[in-house]
Amino acid sequence: MIPRNDYDIMIVGGGPAGVSTWLNLHKYAPELASKTILVEKEKYPRDKLCGGGLQKWMTQKIFDNLHIDLNIPFVSINNMEIRLGEDVYTYKEKDFFRVIRRIEFDHYLANTAMQRGLLIKENEKFLDVTHTSKGLLVKTNKTQYYTKILVGADGALSTVRRKMNLLKKPNLAPTIEIFAPVNPRFDLEFDNHSAVLDFTAINKGLQGYVWHFPCLKDGKTFMNHGICDSRILPNIKRANLKELFCQELLSRNIPYSPKSWRSHPIPYFRDSGILSKSNILLVGDAAGIEPFLGGGIHLSLTYGAVAATTILDAFKTDDFSFENYTKRVRDHYLGKYINKLTDIAKLVYSDNTKLINAAAQIMAYKH
Ligand SMILES: Cc1cc2nc3c(=O)[nH]c(=O)nc-3n(C[C@H](O)[C@H](O)[C@H](O)COP(=O)(O)OP(=O)(O)OC[C@H]3O[C@@H](n4cnc5c(N)ncnc54)[C@H](O)[C@@H]3O)c2cc1C
Repeated sequence: MIPRNDYDIMIVGGGPAGVSTWLNLHKYAPELASKTILVEKEKYPRDKLCGGGLQKWMTQKIFDNLHIDLNIPFVSINNMEIRLGEDVYTYKEKDFFRVIRRIEFDHYLANTAMQRGLLIKENEKFLDVTHTSKGLLVKTNKTQYYTKILVGADGALSTVRRKMNLLKKPNLAPTIEIFAPVNPRFDLEFDNHSAVLDFTAINKGLQGYVWHFPCLKDGKTFMNHGICDSRILPNIKRANLKELFCQELLSRNIPYSPKSWRSHPIPYFRDSGILSKSNILLVGDAAGIEPFLGGGIHLSLTYGAVAATTILDAFKTDDFSFENYTKRVRDHYLGKYINKLTDIAKLVYSDNTKLINAAAQIMAYKH
């Protein structure tokens, strides 16, 4: 019998990375999963600023393995347009990308895990962690816990990462995003089942792109428009993100109203970071994603799988140093994919003639 507030594993953050970690633990070590607690500072359904674009092959791999069906509304994408001025490359594959809403997706995933036995404490915020002779002492805004393992799945601005005092900090790519109702005159993507990644502003110093994703909001047809700037090459003068986004919105006749814009960073490493220390490991945005497309839902789900097997091995060998975790991530297809996209970002933002070829490679890339 586990004493109250004493758990083998504590997961901080109930987004895709945290919940996937638990679902994978539950699949491979149900006994350990039953001694795990997840604390989430918000209450479901909680939203997360995101384009909601689900890269299918990596997501499907995880979902098939965990026996999860995507039983929420989504828009199926059959065409991905990569633009650079007049040059357009279109990748075509039926239903290879899906646009979901995070408020629904994350709630659905958390409910799936709760139905399988996950103990979630909502409205509970992780504050601090210290190593003690009895294990890790974790403080939240509600109480304190002892745990053997702490998993930081608390997103781009991870408090767990901050409390680990790691030497290397991830870079934060700024983004801006809005939702607007579909205007059939300008937003042809909804009917065409297309999504657009427009890199044209590389010529104005942007190290990123503007995206246009069709989506459903409360059953109504909407567009998600956004812009991101990786700034992976620090010596190039920063683009004026607000001005570029404003021009883009005006070109689609969307009223210019920065008050309705929302912003949140995308974390990544220029070179690989350190993702663990003794008894603590990081997953998802807390660990860092990739700077080229900035897509992290599928990566976060996959981080959960790598973390769960690492935790399992730690219990088998009674070694909780997690010295090998960063290498495990790097050697996994997850790490290889992140590295590939990091290299592509450096290449394309220093020489934009490489974009179309690189984009074609990525779209067709499957493990
Ligand atoms: C504008 C924008 C657009 C994006 N578009 C896409 C896209 O189209 N496709 C894609 O794949 N990716 C996209 N991403 C990236 C994607 O949103 C993230 O990679 C993904 O959400 C990471 O999942 P996660 O579980 O690691 O973190 P999150 O989803 O951020 O979840 C972290 C959770 O931790 C909780 N939390 C935080 N601090 C604490 C604390 N102290 N205590 C307890 N709980 C805490 C939060 O409430 C949250 O629920 C986008 C990101 C941005 C900013």
